[in-house]
Amino acid sequence: MKNIYDYRLEDLKEYFKNINEKEFKATQVYEWLYKKRVKSFDEMTNIKKEVIERLKQDFSIEPLKILKKQIDTDVRKYLFELSDKNKIEAVLMKHDYGNSLCVSTQVGCNMSCAFCESGRLKKVRNLNSYEMVSQIIQVEEDLNIRISHLVLMGIGEPFDNYDNVMNFIDIINEPKGIDLGARHITVSTSGLVPKINEFANNPKQVNLAISLHAPNNEIRNKIMPINKAYPIEQLIESVKKYINKTNRRVTFEYIMLKNINDQEKHAVELSKLLKGINCYVNLIPYNETSHIEFKKSEKEQIMKFYDTLKKNNINVTIRKEFGKKVSAACGQLRSNYEEEK
Ligand code: SAH
Repeated sequence: MKNIYDYRLEDLKEYFKNINEKEFKATQVYEWLYKKRVKSFDEMTNIKKEVIERLKQDFSIEPLKILKKQIDTDVRKYLFELSDKNKIEAVLMKHDYGNSLCVSTQVGCNMSCAFCESGRLKKVRNLNSYEMVSQIIQVEEDLNIRISHLVLMGIGEPFDNYDNVMNFIDIINEPKGIDLGARHITVSTSGLVPKINEFANNPKQVNLAISLHAPNNEIRNKIMPINKAYPIEQLIESVKKYINKTNRRVTFEYIMLKNINDQEKHAVELSKLLKGINCYVNLIPYNETSHIEFKKSEKEQIMKFYDTLKKNNINVTIRKEFGKKVSAACGQLRSNYEEEK
């Protein structure tokens, strides 16, 4: 049975048309789900009994189950259990500009990035759209807050689950529903070039972030196997095309790994690579995990790297460190949970 949170407003209109009911019922249902946040069809009191019964037959309305929660000053980390017992994570970060949620898009991940905890579990399956929607709804309800920003940077490669992710974005962007602005949504990819090209045709103003993490193929091949399929030149070319088409600025994420990609010469090489591109670089202090041998760069090294990019006219920021206490790195909570058992 399909979950009702999988449906875009248009799909729900289509559904009502097909059962010979008026299309505006779709809007009513949407408002019950996303504005009034009811948990059962029975609570939708302006919809007649026969239709409610029909909805109950046709859709499930089950949310994800919160299995575990970790709390730190500015972070809340959630471990969810899916209906097939698989586990995924979401992380809520409190910024001065609002509440940002990091959601997972797959169970496990096939990208095998050397530094990343998520990929230790290979992809089991894609998440359905409702499983992504439910991460938002459950966290909002648990904390009694509204999420203002969304990043698709949890477990999984969003562009390896392209259709469900795009459907999910349509659902949460819908003004009659959660109404999260496209400009407040960021999709992060390890660099699946064909999907970046496809994404360039998406009319929504969603932000694109690229996990670059290296200034050349030699280093990138070592830490991100996806680079062997789509080397840096191809990746940069597709990003340029994306910018030309959309007029939107792209973010390059760059994890600072001690003695791997954090030297002065790498900063110079990165500056050359990105020269003239409408982008900014987000330097990410590496979140060390017990299973992986990479070390985080020293603070001074990160500052030097930052200064070199600045000097070369590259827009650059350093990401605030969140959740050291709560194992906030991608995939860490699930991984630790499995070990505890
Ligand atoms: N697969 C997508 C999105 C999920 S990963 C992607 O690769 O972009 C989200 C971001 O977290 C990526 O930039 C990833 O490289 C980074 N990341 C993974 N493990 C990390 C760690 N231990 N510390 C800091 N950043 C990490």
